[in-house]
Amino acid sequence: MKLAIFGGNQVRKTMLAYGRQCIDEEDISYVNEVLRGDFLTTGPYVKEFEDKVAEYVGAKYAVAVSNGTAALHMACFAAEIGVGDEVIVAPMTFAASANCVLYCGGTPVFADIDPRTHNLDPAEIEKHITAKTKAIIPVDYSGQSVDIDVIRKIADKHNLIIIEDGAHALGSEYKGNKVGTVADMTEFSFHPVKPITTGEGGLVVTNNEKLYNRMMLFRTHGITRDASLMEKNDGPWYYEQIDLGYNYRITDIQCALGSSQIKKLDKFVARRREIVAAYNKGFKDVCEIITPYQAEFSNSGWHIYVVELELEKLTCTRKEVFEALKAENIGVNVHYYPVYLFPYYKSLGYKEGLCPNAEKMYERIITLPLHPGMTNDDINDVLVAVKKVITYYRK
Ligand SMILES: *Cc1c(COP(=O)(O)O)cnc(C)c1O
Repeated sequence: MKLAIFGGNQVRKTMLAYGRQCIDEEDISYVNEVLRGDFLTTGPYVKEFEDKVAEYVGAKYAVAVSNGTAALHMACFAAEIGVGDEVIVAPMTFAASANCVLYCGGTPVFADIDPRTHNLDPAEIEKHITAKTKAIIPVDYSGQSVDIDVIRKIADKHNLIIIEDGAHALGSEYKGNKVGTVADMTEFSFHPVKPITTGEGGLVVTNNEKLYNRMMLFRTHGITRDASLMEKNDGPWYYEQIDLGYNYRITDIQCALGSSQIKKLDKFVARRREIVAAYNKGFKDVCEIITPYQAEFSNSGWHIYVVELELEKLTCTRKEVFEALKAENIGVNVHYYPVYLFPYYKSLGYKEGLCPNAEKMYERIITLPLHPGMTNDDINDVLVAVKKVITYYRK
């Protein structure tokens, strides 16, 4: 019944997406060049894009693949995660951050988040380390960097590999440096809602040559043409498969788009920060809404803007706020349902109560629209709609 009042006189006439790509004519003409050229895949644009991302974050090597999930799988392979190995992962993330461990036969071990930053709590990581622990997969949730120096110390003390899931964090900074150089490997995603896009795409940066070589092998079936790695050499046509990899290659078409997009990344991030500043200012006087806490070491690139509802001060549930905002044509979302609560993970034995902070957070969060193409009117629509709904449900 209450919903009718929101549907009746909507703040917006058309849906404002929670996230979306930002493509311009320059991007389009760069992709067109590839289509007129000799290579559609595994040509010069793959290396160009890899070099640009590596240079942008300040890493030595980059390996681009077909999507971010493949990139995480590749990183787990390079880290030699296998049966019997435990990997500490964040629960408040997209399923891929934990699935990649399962792909390799390893066991994801979920550690709880810090309720303020929503990122893995270093103390919780330490609590879950056993003799079987091989790696840690922290996630830079919403674009806010994890405290990677602290996690690095823990990893070094216990001889663990860090695979940072930076799918939200290309362009984000940690203590003044771009995210992507402290972990052993850092993964980025180029899905259309991510900081830059290639349609589908993913990439891992590393400073470690051995990990780089293993990733390059994994991307193409485990096949090499490097004579020093081959048992024999029958001739110039000859190659050997020396490990089991996949076809995780990305196309030149996608990498051309990526190369063009990364030129705009700083502009995109700057606009995202402007929108966030406007949101934070606009919600200052709304005591039912907790705006995102930011640690002093992080300068987020703001992949998503997630607010927490003070449900104790409202007469409604999160679901009612969500549906009311949808009725106002505000494209809200929820990031995320704790991964281990999904039926598949439950079938593996994971149980409710594992990470109480993540579970509590899940009940209270809503993601509001945020992407660089939003206009000031769009920002205002979100503020007006949220205030309208919250005022209605205020105790
Ligand atoms: C988007 C995302 C990925 C990778 O997703 P792809 O769609 O496979 O590119 C991994 N982890 C997180 C946290 C993500 O948001």
